[in-house]
Amino acid sequence: MSGRPENLGLQTRVLHEADSLNDTYAVTAPIWQSTTFSAATPEQLAELGASVHPTVFYTRYGNPTHKQVETVIAALEGGEAALVASSGMGAIFAAVMTGLQSGDHVVAQTNHYSATAKLFRDLLPRWGISSTLVDQANTEAFSAAIQPQTKLIYIESPSNPLLRLTDIQAVAELGRSKQIRTMIDNTFATPVNQLPLSLGIDVVVHSATKFLGGHHDLTAGVVVGSGSYIAEVWDFSIISGSILGPFDSWLLLRGLKTLGLRVEQQNRNALALAQFLERHPKVETVNYPGLESHPQHLLARRQMKGFGGVMSVVLKGDQSAAARLINSLKLAKCAVSLGGVDTLIVPAVTMWGHQHSAEQRRAAGISDGLVRISVGIEDEKDLIADFDQALEGV
Ligand SMILES: *Cc1c(COP(=O)(O)O)cnc(C)c1O
Repeated sequence: MSGRPENLGLQTRVLHEADSLNDTYAVTAPIWQSTTFSAATPEQLAELGASVHPTVFYTRYGNPTHKQVETVIAALEGGEAALVASSGMGAIFAAVMTGLQSGDHVVAQTNHYSATAKLFRDLLPRWGISSTLVDQANTEAFSAAIQPQTKLIYIESPSNPLLRLTDIQAVAELGRSKQIRTMIDNTFATPVNQLPLSLGIDVVVHSATKFLGGHHDLTAGVVVGSGSYIAEVWDFSIISGSILGPFDSWLLLRGLKTLGLRVEQQNRNALALAQFLERHPKVETVNYPGLESHPQHLLARRQMKGFGGVMSVVLKGDQSAAARLINSLKLAKCAVSLGGVDTLIVPAVTMWGHQHSAEQRRAAGISDGLVRISVGIEDEKDLIADFDQALEGV
């Protein structure tokens, strides 16, 4: 079958975008579980070794299964090219470091995924790269933080774990006007809910461990951007070496096939649960961009199609209330990570305890009673019933 119809929807694309890269009869593309690839002649092999991002040379340089999943994710985000990595942090590290050198400056947020926050705060200064961290809700703060040596504006929206938003289009325009690269962590929203490249952002990064993979069974990351930038990131990452294994790459491809279905269900479940929790007398606050009470709800409606599967809550009373809730839940599991098919719940300090002092946690707004919930694809009524019964014992 040749000649693909135009303007395909997201669910059709995740299934068919890489069809032309599968030249076998297998409906599900086989895994290229090989480290190295043979060439017909030494000259051909040398040519492959000298090319950018070859797929049949050596798997650290690329692999046909990588190529398939990169093609699908680039299409979903509307980018020219993508590069997979062995974790979200592998992707973020390569994407951030590629454009930076000693003496450069980065503008980022006070609220980021905990390891990303540590990268800007503690690691980059070791290489002489400084950062200014700003309140993401204050768009003017981004432009006020720019210095002559600023080379990157890095944002995360919604951010982990407080679900605060950044005005993506405003930051993209700022970057364009000053010729500074803009990069966003789009893990929480996914391309189902938010398309930052279409709002003018230059580079998207993901922890593909989360919604993209979606089944709590792999660790992966991805960078999406222009062909020339991805070639530069590739050049860096064949040295930094955060390379996804072919099997995990194949699992990611498989997980992606249901991305649209899963995230739509997670959007519905999370909104219903957030509304239920917000009305509950034992709940103090619910942070979820889909609620009208979210201080940036209008911005959420402007830049997101759905509000995602993650929220965070604070219960009334002391922090032991959170522990009692978690202990009483029968379906939701107490675990880190997010975005997968099972509902997970975790005290936010669990992710922040190791890398950040109590003072640094407070500065980032992470209170001891804050609990993050990643809503899965269970039936909505069962999920709400589970939280209902668990809150009774709180
Ligand atoms: C989990 C996560 C990361 C890190 O991804 P890993 O796959 O664990 O390396 C980065 N950003 C966000 C928003 C995340 O949730």
